[in-house]
Amino acid sequence: MDIHEYQAKELLANFGVNVPLGALAYSPEQAAYRARELGGEKWVVKAQVHAGGRGQAGGVKICQSDTEIQAASEQMFGRKLVTHQTGPEGRGVYRVYVETLVQIEKEFYLGFVLDRVSQRIMIVASSAGGMEVEDIAAEEPGTIVRATVEPAVGLRDFQCRQIAFKLGIDASMVQQVVRIMLGCYRAFTELDATMVEINPLVVTSDHSILALDAKMTFDDNALFRHPQISELRDKSQEDVLESRASDRGLRYVAMKGNIGCIVNGAGLALATMDAISQAGGQAANFLDIGGGATADRVAKAVRLVLSDQNVQTVLVNVFAGINRCDWVAEGVVSALHEAATDVPVIVRLAGNNLEEGQMVLAKSGLPIIRASNLKEAAERAVSAWRNDAAFRALPVLPT
Ligand code: GDP
Ligand code: MN
Repeated sequence: MDIHEYQAKELLANFGVNVPLGALAYSPEQAAYRARELGGEKWVVKAQVHAGGRGQAGGVKICQSDTEIQAASEQMFGRKLVTHQTGPEGRGVYRVYVETLVQIEKEFYLGFVLDRVSQRIMIVASSAGGMEVEDIAAEEPGTIVRATVEPAVGLRDFQCRQIAFKLGIDASMVQQVVRIMLGCYRAFTELDATMVEINPLVVTSDHSILALDAKMTFDDNALFRHPQISELRDKSQEDVLESRASDRGLRYVAMKGNIGCIVNGAGLALATMDAISQAGGQAANFLDIGGGATADRVAKAVRLVLSDQNVQTVLVNVFAGINRCDWVAEGVVSALHEAATDVPVIVRLAGNNLEEGQMVLAKSGLPIIRASNLKEAAERAVSAWRNDAAFRALPVLPT
């Protein structure tokens, strides 16, 4: 789960990370009012969307008066901000963050990520801040400093000092950097984050060090133990179907084709998509019902996939290890009875309670097309989608 910049800054500040003074606004008028409350003469208005690259896309504006703040916010509110990270559809702006302007002397990059190779939290830092980390890696690879954290001892002061020196930070400011790094690390581990990114981390003209931008991503599977983090979720920033799925304990990924896939497990999802494309079709999405799915959860999955306008055929492919074929079949049947759709549905089941599952499908009286293996399932799905001769020749259940 992603959160907004202002939320990340508030969380990080609680861990001792220095951030600029700022206030949130839900309208242009409120933004101007917030700026007066903050005081000072210059401010930055920042569109709050779950994406970076706002600066280049008109989502970060420096302002010198109430009127400028109001005008800058009016440009942002209610619009879709399209940055190189959002894709062409952009992200809606419903909140802006107003900050007092900081005089920047130098910008750095500071990131904390999970490194899957070393299975450690890795710190990635660079003296070429302000640009995207991918661009730093491509254009200024020599400036990148990396360090992994030994989990048994945690991040140590000396490691932070080492990184700070490698970045070329003046000795008089190293202690501030150490504090920020330790704060980010503690926030990362204590809140079950998977990413903390400060870009830029800045040295100001009066020699203090601040997180000028902040981004945090959290491990969805750990959110149950951080209700205060779950509350920060902003569905306006998520894909509608993906967000509806995650509310129902399902994992949904939207794609470009017309065959909706209901599967269990990411590996089977990929295999199913491959089989579909080998058979000449393209998946519209995949929806992962997970393990131990009840008939109710499966029915929700079918309804959700059918609600996708691009779906012209549904393929259910479940290899029941922890799941039960009969529950999956019951879910499919109950959703289809209720939906009364004419979208062809292909079901391939294997594993636990297979016979019971087949029985449920056979007794349903629905024109469900069965398949006995993945290849056959994919071929039948593609020919159903094309409505070709092979599809019309298929026997209708019960078989
Ligand atoms: P992003 O483009 O979405 O990553 O948004 P950022 O919050 O990183 O802002 C983009 C850029 O705007 C920064 O790299 C800074 O150069 C500039 N910027 C943001 N806030 C301030 C500020 O308070 N003072 C100054 N001088 N520049 C700022
Ligand atoms: Mn940034």
